[in-house]
Amino acid sequence: MADLTGSTFALVPSCGLCSGTGLPADAGRYVWDDGVWRLWTSTRGSVPGFSILMPKRHVPHITDLAGMEAATLGDVLGRTTRALREATGTQVVYLYVFGEGIAHLHIHLAPHRSDDALNSAMLRGRVSEEPLPSGATVLRSLDFPERPEHELNETADAIAKLLAEA
Ligand SMILES: [Zn+2]
Repeated sequence: MADLTGSTFALVPSCGLCSGTGLPADAGRYVWDDGVWRLWTSTRGSVPGFSILMPKRHVPHITDLAGMEAATLGDVLGRTTRALREATGTQVVYLYVFGEGIAHLHIHLAPHRSDDALNSAMLRGRVSEEPLPSGATVLRSLDFPERPEHELNETADAIAKLLAEA
């Protein structure tokens, strides 16, 4: 059986999320902990239920997921987002992972209403929206040029190759 202990990752005292100093105490609180993951929910701001899901051990980035954190993330995401949706009466919960601030994996979970403060844009600047009959929308940047199609195909091929080897 695979080793699910993920023993590579210990707590890192200098990390704000490991030490518990990374989130302002007056802006929210921990509402759930299953021993592997914990959920912090904001109690200030303009988006009720805005939460941060994080592994209890120091997993730096989503690309470092291993062990119990990797084995349980799907169930935990389902459980936490269902609770957020039910508690707020929203239909969808946005997920954001940036990885450029605190180097301890944290997934922002944001219950979304159409008239709330959340930014639903994936692209910076001006964007054209082309609705498709399927209901999907193709977004194209008006401020950043499209990259050459061969470059995008080479990237897609590289991803497919890496995943086939994994
Ligand atoms: Zn940490």
